[in-house]
Amino acid sequence: MTAASPVERAIVVENVTRNFGDFVALSDVSLSVPKGLIYGLLGPNGSGKSTLIRLLCGLLAPTSGKASVLGLDVATNGENIRRNIGYMSQKFALYPDLTVMENLQFYARVYGLTGTRLKAGIQSALDLTHIGPYTNRRAGLLSGGWKQRLALGAALMHEPRVVFLDEPTAGIDPVARRELWDLLFALSARGITLLVTTHYMDEAERCGEVGYLYLSKLLVTGTPDTLKQLPAVNHAGVRRLEIETTSSTRALTWLRTQPYCRAATVFGSAVHAEIEIAMPDEELNRRLTAAGFPATLREIAPSLEDVFVALTEQAARDRGILQKVSA
Ligand code: ADP
Ligand code: MG
Repeated sequence: MTAASPVERAIVVENVTRNFGDFVALSDVSLSVPKGLIYGLLGPNGSGKSTLIRLLCGLLAPTSGKASVLGLDVATNGENIRRNIGYMSQKFALYPDLTVMENLQFYARVYGLTGTRLKAGIQSALDLTHIGPYTNRRAGLLSGGWKQRLALGAALMHEPRVVFLDEPTAGIDPVARRELWDLLFALSARGITLLVTTHYMDEAERCGEVGYLYLSKLLVTGTPDTLKQLPAVNHAGVRRLEIETTSSTRALTWLRTQPYCRAATVFGSAVHAEIEIAMPDEELNRRLTAAGFPATLREIAPSLEDVFVALTEQAARDRGILQKVSA
């Protein structure tokens, strides 16, 4: 090769549209995911996240546009793709009446494993998930967190190089969520590419890159840090302040009536507000105190939640934007 070789892409989506009858479930979506990255896909319910995953697993063809996984076209190479990927669907796909071990044996056979490969696959699922103590328990009796670990272990036995996880942490407790993410980091460290959908902002912050789907369109894709620097999120003439005060909810109500406050929301004991730069800290502090809210002020960066709220508002105003933000 003469030119420097490009970053290896595990997933490439180019101008993909997918219709169901008259309904457009995905509209002109483009993104690419480098090998070994954790890509987070966010968006409200019905925005098209599961449709995109099913399309990338070769289970649905694009109506127009092209997509490939590990260089294999999703429209023509579905079977080959499915041999090389893991897929954890949004719905719990294990058999509740079978034990943990029986489920693993069943899925190992579905993936075509036999003999020593079958044994090794099951052992690697047990090693990765630490579900060993529960192998004789019926899957339906496991807690939500253990069910998801089992589903992930089952999806990995054939050593896939790309794994799709559709809302893997929905409805599980924070400790189980943390543990599942530790597993995802371990997989990423081995060079496995992961595409994960989630509604949790803290999970989005953990991804190497995130995309935000809204009404079937990918509004943005980029690293969390670059998204926070988008002009749509950082309005000209405005600073983002954390206002720590004794009654954040009452302070919020008051701040929203102030003409120099463009937007405000509560985070625990603080209000996060967008304040016009014409209003200096000392003057704002004086007015807060006079209104009964003595406070400490600190300038802060936007969160990913701020990013998605700002982009959703912008998209509602002018439809159909896509911004690719390079790292
Ligand atoms: P998300 O996963 O973001 O919640 P989905 O991809 O499941 O969204 O769905 C996007 C939209 O496409 C929804 O309005 C859903 O009803 C519609 N949809 C998904 N699959 C089908 C299908 N097979 N036939 C018709 N409509 C579908
Ligand atoms: Mg979904």
